[in-house]
Amino acid sequence: MTSPAAPLPRHRTVTVDVGGVRVGSDAPIVVQSMTNTDTADVEATARQVEALARAGSELVRITVDRDEAAAAVPHIRDRLLKRNIRVPLIGDFHYIGHKLLTDHPAAAEALAKYRINPGNVGFGEKKDRQFATLIELAIRHGKPVRIGVNWGSLDQALLTRLMDENATSAEPLSAREVMHEAIVQSALLSAAQAEQIGLARDRIILSAKVSDVQDLIAVYRLLASRAGDGPGHALHLGLTEAGMGSKGIVASSAAMGILLQEGIGDTVRVSLTPEPGGDRTREVTVAQELLQVMGFRTFMPVVAACPGCGRTTSTVFQELAKRIEGDLREKMPQWRERYPGVESLKVAVMGCIVNGPGESKHADIGISLPGTGEQPAAPVFIDGKKAATLRGPRIADEFVAMLEAYIERRFGQGASSSPVYGGGGPPQAVEGARDEHCGGPTLPASKSSQLATPPTAASASLRRGPPSLSRGMGARHPGRVGPAEG
Ligand code: SF4
Repeated sequence: MTSPAAPLPRHRTVTVDVGGVRVGSDAPIVVQSMTNTDTADVEATARQVEALARAGSELVRITVDRDEAAAAVPHIRDRLLKRNIRVPLIGDFHYIGHKLLTDHPAAAEALAKYRINPGNVGFGEKKDRQFATLIELAIRHGKPVRIGVNWGSLDQALLTRLMDENATSAEPLSAREVMHEAIVQSALLSAAQAEQIGLARDRIILSAKVSDVQDLIAVYRLLASRAGDGPGHALHLGLTEAGMGSKGIVASSAAMGILLQEGIGDTVRVSLTPEPGGDRTREVTVAQELLQVMGFRTFMPVVAACPGCGRTTSTVFQELAKRIEGDLREKMPQWRERYPGVESLKVAVMGCIVNGPGESKHADIGISLPGTGEQPAAPVFIDGKKAATLRGPRIADEFVAMLEAYIERRFGQGASSSPVYGGGGPPQAVEGARDEHCGGPTLPASKSSQLATPPTAASASLRRGPPSLSRGMGARHPGRVGPAEG
């Protein structure tokens, strides 16, 4: 029976190997992204692919729109390999993909997958021929394809036919429902055509992107339902033209969150419009955070910080939470290799005594900073037990040092499974009512009185010598950053 606090089981889909990264229901949900550089600019594109891969993108798509871009592809791949970046590259083709892949066999070979939009393959009688050429090239080079339908470039002949049929139906659908049907049929008919030509189902990923949240949910539900008992085609999820900033993040998370909860989706891309000069890797961070908060995968240590309220008049805890979050994100690429399992760490930074100690005890390591009018002391909890009380102007520095020492001790070479501060075991449930201000557990009065203990060990004494660099990568998808796995 499915737990009430868990997603539905994944829809059964075939598993597609994309340059060593598995996409399908037997594999973890994959994070992917896309560059926005001119692909003909080898260095700029290699740099952005590297940044996306280092941020955690497991597949990266690049535009291949003309001869210069296609000619650049193998050089981009080679430049990345020299930097030890092995992320699979996907070529995005429109209209002349058949020609570019024919004229540039080195590009066809260097790419790990071809993305084909059936609405943009060609017009009239050329459409089927050019689509067939693309599929034959994929077969010849041993590559999978994504058949990526986009409502903005939907096959108009198909839409018109379905509209005409609907007009004469006894129970006509709404125009919106017909559009959903046309999007789904475009994807499935193209996939069937590709399979007829000889491309195996485990070489085909489908996507059906629209820009409206409710439309996306409806379309993917329909697409997933057409597979019956399956296994169906592997599905790539993404809201197209999601928008800028918080709107794009909220829209993508709302749409994809609902589908993922229903077990639909094998790989995700969050399509954010970057702010001018903005960081392209933001879309990778958002995709990772979406999968992590929903419990599908673990990429980064979690920093639980209270929202703050009238009990905190200083910004100390906000600054500390921000600093820790930034430090963790910056150091994770190295820490993944050095400290296997560190992504499961939970850190709490709380603003006052009301919920601070309780929330901190639930974390692996947490600090409860003094609120307005409270004693200027910050108890630190490690593995559910109070480990120190920090005071004075260097509280933030000392807590960061304690955090790093904890990581080294728990996840570094020679780490044992026993808690750092002995006997802690898994964090204990905290007694007490939930606080209506911030939703955290409230510490009973008897326990709060224990917090006025004198300072204990200085953070420096927690260190255990230089960390080892000899550990391999943690259990991740192959083909990312760093040395090739086994
Ligand atoms: S009451 Fe809650 S939100 Fe307010 S400062 Fe304390 S822990 Fe933070």
